[in-house]
Amino acid sequence: MKYISTRQSSASAAEPLPFDAVLLAGLARDGGLYMPQQWPRFAAEDIRALRGLSYAQVATRVMAPFVAGAIADDDLAAMAADTYAGFDHDAVAPLVQLDSNLWALELFHGPTLAFKDYALQFLGRAFDLVLGRSGRRITIVGATSGDTGSAAIEACRDRDAIEIFILHPAGRVSEVQRRQMTTVPSDNVHNIAVKGTFDDCQDLVKAMFNDQGFRDRHALSAVNSINWARIMAQIVYYFWAAVHLGAPDRQVTFAVPTGNFGNVLAGDCARRMGLPVRGFVVGSNSNDILTRFFQTGTMAAEGVSPTLSPSMDIQVSSNFERLLWELYDRDGAEVERLMARFRQGGSYAVEEARWRRVLETFAGHRFDDDQTTAEIARLYRRTGHLIDPHSAVGIAAAAAARAAGADPSDPVVALATAHPAKFPDAVEAATGIRPALPPRLADLFERAERCRTLPNNLAAVQAYIADRLAAKEAA
Ligand SMILES: *Cc1c(COP(=O)(O)O)cnc(C)c1O
Repeated sequence: MKYISTRQSSASAAEPLPFDAVLLAGLARDGGLYMPQQWPRFAAEDIRALRGLSYAQVATRVMAPFVAGAIADDDLAAMAADTYAGFDHDAVAPLVQLDSNLWALELFHGPTLAFKDYALQFLGRAFDLVLGRSGRRITIVGATSGDTGSAAIEACRDRDAIEIFILHPAGRVSEVQRRQMTTVPSDNVHNIAVKGTFDDCQDLVKAMFNDQGFRDRHALSAVNSINWARIMAQIVYYFWAAVHLGAPDRQVTFAVPTGNFGNVLAGDCARRMGLPVRGFVVGSNSNDILTRFFQTGTMAAEGVSPTLSPSMDIQVSSNFERLLWELYDRDGAEVERLMARFRQGGSYAVEEARWRRVLETFAGHRFDDDQTTAEIARLYRRTGHLIDPHSAVGIAAAAAARAAGADPSDPVVALATAHPAKFPDAVEAATGIRPALPPRLADLFERAERCRTLPNNLAAVQAYIADRLAAKEAA
């Protein structure tokens, strides 16, 4: 399998890349995102053959065509087995029934209690394999508003060929989120608290990647959700859930709480591979750029306001570019034009016919904090289940789809993206019950923290990173 950039025009001569190159590159040099040159197709009997397999086995079958030519089948199977053995539920991604035709797919049984572990735990191992073969080392640099940072740190800790630096806005992430990052004792993990906002952190990371000298000198690499390998590993649980509910002989609808559009995009990839999906219901909090797009056909950025579901407080859904590329029949030049318009004027519109095509598969619903709290309370009253605010947005979106006339015989799967104990204040405010951290994190508040606070200044952050890397090399 080879990959091409979403901004590559047919006239450009850029060579398609194999999986290992795409894994290490993250973003394409032309600013686009990598996509597979063609979709592997799973026929009905291939999907039926997934029945009864373990999560790791399903992961191996689903990912094999995407890594073909770069990772051998045996290595992939061993990596998948090792990745998901560390999760703390034997089913890895259990389905929990909430209503007669509504299921929650629990994606919070990894080390940092959010769905990002399902892809990042695999990614850390894939980096190790690919780097180990070439003897190369990389420096991962990323910005986080909370969940991504801890998931990336857990994925990369103690890996020989990786140093990881994560920037977070000082005083602006929850205490659980901060401690999940700063209490990891591994000496390849470096936390930087920036005196600024999440956007400042992101700008610093972007500036470091745009500094070609710095980027090449330290072999910078990214693990944010634009990395194709993350999307690929997320495709797995769509197959897993649908097969448990009767695929390929029954269609499933997925409801997905969405920020960067990475998670729901993975579901759309599964659909393009042949999984019978009726559609996707996208849930947003009050940062509702996607919901407004589904309503109007125009993608228009607005300011970001903080909500109870901070991992969805985003202004731009960067992975939407991948859907746009398919929508424009893989015309990279057209995608480049739309993205340029967005960079310059903060908005772009797609033609009516293409927008209608999106609506055949996607619907969007928005829920503010009061509605989110009400959904957490309602579900607790009706089922006894505690859910976190992100998952609540997804479950509320599923209910909205039903109310809007979705076929009631269709099973709906709402993706539960974080453990309730990650957001204890919101859950307690809604239900009166403070969810406890699972045993593996029970002593989180007693562990020692390691973190360097730096000003919102590129030179200072670059100097710190260069200094830490030099110290490691000298040791
Ligand atoms: C990252 C995150 C999301 C949003 O996922 P996207 O792939 O960015 O759409 C939702 N819920 C939780 C808990 C997250 O950490």
